[in-house]
Amino acid sequence: MISPLVVAEIQRLLVGKKHSHRVIGEMLGVSRNTVGAVALGRHRNIGVDPNGDAEGEPIGPPKRCPTCGGMVYMPCRLCRLRNENEANPRPPQREHDERNAAASAELNLRPDHQVRYQKVRVRRQRMLAAGYV
Ligand SMILES: [Zn+2]
Repeated sequence: MISPLVVAEIQRLLVGKKHSHRVIGEMLGVSRNTVGAVALGRHRNIGVDPNGDAEGEPIGPPKRCPTCGGMVYMPCRLCRLRNENEANPRPPQREHDERNAAASAELNLRPDHQVRYQKVRVRRQRMLAAGYV
């Protein structure tokens, strides 16, 4: 079981949307799966730890949110994030650039591996387009 404070810190970093789950996990010494579980509100510490003393730690049981209708721990995080996203819309996504696909996946490939990566990627996309997989 990880500390409720770590859960709270994961939640704080997730709201910032500046880091991937993997990076947040590395920063806090937990797995990216743990970060993902916290992102989905499915971590076992959430809402069930009576000793949880982290601020904002939701306490169960879930209730029906009057705004979005979801079964959530109040206050509804989804509605809060939606409001924050409306107030601070994200900048438009860059056009997807195949040549930068490896870079955006944070792969640091040697040139010969880069060539191999692109070949595999193109083959994969052809297979997907042809209905395989
Ligand atoms: Zn809601």
